[in-house]
Amino acid sequence: MEFAMEVQKRQLGELLEEFIPTLLSRYEGMKEEPVYREGDESTIRRLRERGIPREGRPVRQVFEEMEKEVYANQTLVQHPRCFACIPSPVSLFSWMGEVMTSGYDPHAGCWINASTASCIEQEVIRWMCSLAGYPHTGSGLFVSGGSMANLTALTAARDKLLPQEDRARGVAYVSEQTHSSVAKGLHILGFAPQQVRVIPTDELFRMRVDRLEAAIREDRAAGRKPFAVIATAGTTNTGSIDPLEEIGSLCEREGLWMHVDGAYGASLLVSEEQREKLRGIERSNSISWDAHKWLMQTYGCSAVLVRDGQDLVHSFAVHPEYLEDAVIQEGQLNYWDLGPELTRPARSLKLWATLQVMGTDRMGQAIDHGCAMARLAEESLRRCPGWEIVCPAQQAIVNFRYAPAGVEEGALDGLNQRIAQAVTASGYAQILTTQLKGKKVLRICCPNPETAEEDIRTTIQLLDRLARELTQERIA
Ligand SMILES: *Cc1c(COP(=O)(O)O)cnc(C)c1O
Repeated sequence: MEFAMEVQKRQLGELLEEFIPTLLSRYEGMKEEPVYREGDESTIRRLRERGIPREGRPVRQVFEEMEKEVYANQTLVQHPRCFACIPSPVSLFSWMGEVMTSGYDPHAGCWINASTASCIEQEVIRWMCSLAGYPHTGSGLFVSGGSMANLTALTAARDKLLPQEDRARGVAYVSEQTHSSVAKGLHILGFAPQQVRVIPTDELFRMRVDRLEAAIREDRAAGRKPFAVIATAGTTNTGSIDPLEEIGSLCEREGLWMHVDGAYGASLLVSEEQREKLRGIERSNSISWDAHKWLMQTYGCSAVLVRDGQDLVHSFAVHPEYLEDAVIQEGQLNYWDLGPELTRPARSLKLWATLQVMGTDRMGQAIDHGCAMARLAEESLRRCPGWEIVCPAQQAIVNFRYAPAGVEEGALDGLNQRIAQAVTASGYAQILTTQLKGKKVLRICCPNPETAEEDIRTTIQLLDRLARELTQERIA
């Protein structure tokens, strides 16, 4: 049976009218929903069996299946009690910008295809660069995420500081807590694992600058070519901020590229209260900054900033004959000359829209709120017997474990793993584990401005109850 496209288009209009109120009420009522829902076996089987049809199906049917079977089965990363990984609270104004951008679908690779979207991207990047304290040479672009931002920045670092003949001897420095995307990026760039030096961290999981300095000295003495230090502003595990000022001075003295992975933490720059914590970031050569983590954007929204825009142009500008018409005037940019992508969506528009509606003060307060909720979680845990804080609240993250008297150390990893599973299975909140100092610990990351004090308190009560029950079971 063929479905006339005219009918399909008419139905599409009706469906979209229904969709918007459905989606808005989903956000409205999100706190009542379970945080975590996984597709059951029969759903997965049905999706696999459906295949890709030769003849189309009615749009309403496809739409309803997607609603029920696809989007219904996901972790609600926007949920106020999603505390796993780095959750992604989303502003509905970002969603508005996203829907409009995908609807109008500008090609944001070059100025002639999207002059005003390119201009907005420049303005958002300018705003971010000025918060970071970069000079007027600062530039950058939007990419899909922190991993791509790190890769983009490290490409520029390599091209600037490592001549072709030195590449096999180049060394980049990370800490024990650096995000895995940095090593992945360096691998993509052709560096061997032994060209990535892992520097130990201090008691708050910050890179030890004395050890960094010693490693650089040792590498130089051995004829290797240090070229980049990757500092983190807000580590994924603990929210720790590496000593940016000291690393900045060291990099300046040593002539090294300083990259700051601020995928998670660079957003602190928006808050007047928190900004001070990132002092020294202005000394860096490049910064990664995920707007889909703490600036309330839907996915695929991250910025890479560089102190000197020419460094990106040097690495990424290409001029094939089929792009020759895309000439630019003074003050304009062809974004395909600044990063790995040619065709790209206009990722900055939704962030711009969100900032226009909210203003930066309110965005800053949202960030302060996340930090306050992590401190509250820490205080609440300190009041419960048997709980141990492994790393105190830093930014919107706290790490802890249940270690009651009478349970031997060797059993604690398993116990804490089961506590995380039990909380997540309850659907009330999602909490996952990580490893710190060889211990399995629970981790709460709470950047969502909709997370209320009550959510934190009830979640800690639930944790405490489940922890006791699981301990009883073991002993019984
Ligand atoms: C999340 C994160 C990344 C990776 O960013 P994606 O957007 O997931 O690619 C890199 N670095 C840090 C510190 C992060 O928290």
